[in-house]
This record gives sequence, C-alpha cells and structure tokens, in this order.
Amino acid sequence: MTATTPVTNWAGNITYAAKELHRPRSLDALRALVAGSGRVRVLGSGHSFNEIAEPGPDGVLLSLAELPPAIDVDTSARTVRVSGGVRYAELARVVHRHGLALPNMASLPHISVAGSVATGTHGSGIGNGPLSVAVREVELVTADGETVRIGRGEERFGGAVTSLGALGAVTALTLELEPAFEVEQYVFTELPLAGLDPDGFEAVMGAAYSVSLFTDWGAPGFRQVWVKRRADQPYAGVDRAAPATEAMHPVPGMPAVNCTEQFGVPGPWHERLPHFRAEFTPSSGDELQSEYLLPRGSAVDALYAIDRIRDTVAPVLQTCEIRTVAADDQWMSPAYGRDSVALHFTWIAEQAAVLPAVLRVEQALDGFGARPHWGKVFAVPAGVVRERYPRLGDFAALARELDPEGKFANAFVRNVLEG
Ligand SMILES: Cc1cc2nc3c(=O)[nH]c(=O)nc-3n(C[C@H](O)[C@H](O)[C@H](O)COP(=O)(O)OP(=O)(O)OC[C@H]3O[C@@H](n4cnc5c(N)ncnc54)[C@H](O)[C@@H]3O)c2cc1C
Repeated sequence: MTATTPVTNWAGNITYAAKELHRPRSLDALRALVAGSGRVRVLGSGHSFNEIAEPGPDGVLLSLAELPPAIDVDTSARTVRVSGGVRYAELARVVHRHGLALPNMASLPHISVAGSVATGTHGSGIGNGPLSVAVREVELVTADGETVRIGRGEERFGGAVTSLGALGAVTALTLELEPAFEVEQYVFTELPLAGLDPDGFEAVMGAAYSVSLFTDWGAPGFRQVWVKRRADQPYAGVDRAAPATEAMHPVPGMPAVNCTEQFGVPGPWHERLPHFRAEFTPSSGDELQSEYLLPRGSAVDALYAIDRIRDTVAPVLQTCEIRTVAADDQWMSPAYGRDSVALHFTWIAEQAAVLPAVLRVEQALDGFGARPHWGKVFAVPAGVVRERYPRLGDFAALARELDPEGKFANAFVRNVLEG
C-alpha cells in the first residue's frame, strides 16, 4: 500500500520531501522495493525531530508497519524477536504477559523499537544503558534486497544496532529479557541546585533504579525529581527535596492524568518506567526536543553552565529533563564508552524562536564534549560531532560494506559521516 499525502513526523516540523510513503505487506514486497529503488529510508513511528529519516525528493520512504507483526517470546531463552514496525507499548504488554520484562523504557512507549535503538534512545538509571543494550541480534534487508543477520559477538555488531537507519531496513530484532519486576514511582519537588556537588548528584541519581530531574529553568534548581524504584532493589530515598502532594506532569501546569501512576503505588515495570501512559496515544506533539549526552562526571558543571544561560533558555522551554545513561558499546551511540548524563530540552513548537536557545545551549556545553541525540534538533557542526565518536570510521566502513552504493545514506547521514 502507498500513501501519497504529505508525510510529516510526529511533531509536524518535518514534511518529508519523498513523494510517497510505501507500506509493503510482505517481506518479499519489501525486498523488491528496496532492490528496485535508488535511495531508501525507513520511517519508524516518526518521533524524531530532524531529517534523519528523510530520503530526499527522489528517494523512497518506507514504513514497515504493515508487515506481518511478530512478537515472539522464547521464555526458556528469555528473549523476544520483534518485527521492524512494532512499538514498545505493544511489545511490553506481550512480554509482561509471559512474566518477563525489558530492562528499561523511554519516557513514551509509543515509539518504535527499531527506530528507537537506531538513534540511541534511552531512559534513565546509573546502571542502565540505552535501550539498544537489550538487542542481541539484528535482521536487515540490505540494499540488494538480501537479508543479513548480525549478532552480538560479531565485530560488526558494534555498528549494527545504533545504525541511524544507514545500513538497511531492520526487519526484526531479538532482545534479551529478564524476569518481570514491579516498580514504585515517587515524585519529589524543589531540589535546589545550590550546594549540589558531584557526590550529591550521584546520590540523587543513584537513589533508585531510574531517576529523572525536571526543571523549567525559571529559577535555579529542579522543580521535580521522578524516582522509579524497583520493588526488588534497595531504595536510598531523596532527602534534599519534599515529597509531592499531588500527581505531577513534567511540564508545569499540564494535567497529570496522562502520566504513569505515582505516590509509590507498585505496578508492573512497563506501566511505571515510561512517564506517560500507553493508553494515552498522542498523535502529534506541540513541541520540539533537543538532548545532549556528556560524561557523567561533568554533570554538575554542565548544570551550572545551563543555569548561567537560564534567561535565554527558559522563555522557549516547556521542560528540561536530566537523566543518566550507563556507557554502552554501540559505536554511534551518544553514550558510547562513557557513563553519561543526558540534558534534555522540550522546547515550544516554534523552530525560529527555539534555534537561538539551541545554539546557546550548545555553546554552553561545548567544553564538555556533548554528543547530540540523533533523533532531536541540534546544530553542532558535523565536523565537531565526528570528533566525538572514536569509532565513526568503523561505522562508515560497515555502511560501505553493507551498502556500497549508499542507497540508505541520506543527506543527514552523509553529512555526519563525510562532512
Ligand atoms: C514525545 C517523545 C518522547 C521521546 N522520549 C524519548 C526518551 O525518553 N528518550 C530518548 O532517548 N528519546 C526520546 N525521544 C526520541 C525518540 O525516541 C527517537 O526520535 C526515536 O528515533 C523514535 O523512534 P521512531 O521509530 O519514531 O524513529 P523515526 O523518527 O521514525 O526514525 C528514526 C531513525 O530510525 C530509522 N529507522 C526507523 N525504523 C527503522 C527500521 N525498521 N529499519 C531501519 N531504520 C529505521 C529511520 O530511518 C531514522 O533514521 C522521544 C521523542 C518524542 C516525540
């Protein structure tokens, strides 16, 4: 099936130049389409905020959402094989029914699995790597229409998961699971920045399995601390902030009805790890996002650097979220090789007004070697980005090996890899 109306991303700030969105209904149809096309990109759930999925005006934009969906759980191996168009919300429900769990989730469960791991998407937690750490094997339809499997243990696996969509169409991923667990979510308010030192930051962020700080930068400090405590793990508590007295939304003034349960009510992992409920499906978003990952040891200095430019940031900001991401070994992952702090900005939906603040944030974080999130708005020059990825050359070589003609290399990827 093919849609010919203009295709936009979730936020509506990108209208893809590709004239059509192709939705093959079988693997053979997908293979034929890929083999017979000049330039190709796969669109996941469209939650990225930049042109990473754009194939260009003469290219083919593909959705895998109408391929036969597969969510095949192997309870004895504790794995699930999931097809390329599936989103975390549907995956999590099935996995949980089998008494199993994913180690972590992003803030929103409506994003596709393949698209998320392709961009280094992450949740929070001192001990939690990006969502890609669960991946054990990738199945791709490459430029010539052939299927290639790349498994953990192979050298080239380092480039295969966080692949920016540049290696081929990911038709399936096999993920490792663990026994299901329960999570209690607590929200605290007003954590001061003054007096926060690196030990204090580590203590707050390490207080539980997954911790996020939120602020609107209207004043120094953090308006909210979201603590997701695994019921089977110890919990250190947060002593510099006060427990919330009502349910909270990360954006001040927004109703909390779409947020996951708070006040420590225990619940299954997939109904607590995301901030937003799966049953609330936002079809589009009135926002833009940027995010930067930098070494966790620089977290407090980086927070003070943003505090110094609050007057530029706050007027165009809805909320800023601070998370931690453990180092991983995907060559193109923003958390590659370093335990990271992630500074995320949910901006208002006006690109022209937001861009000066983005540039100011990038200036403030420049000295920390910040790596921008691949799926969000950024302006860091490609040459600077390249210097921050020590294995980028290996990734470029893998892309050439699997896709010698650069069929899956759009302008975004070419710019990153070649300048
Ligand atoms: C409301 C909201 C909340 C978010 N929360 C978080 C968060 O908590 N943490 C975080 O890190 N990020 C977050 N993000 C960012 C988001 O996770 C990334 O943009 C992610 O890429 C979204 O997946 P997608 O399927 O929508 O990707 P798309 O935007 O559709 O595509 C992203 C890239 O993946 C490629 N791709 C997608 N599917 C395939 C496939 N099957 N085969 C090959 N390539 C493919 C595309 O070509 C493109 O290069 C959020 C975004 C939004 C809008």
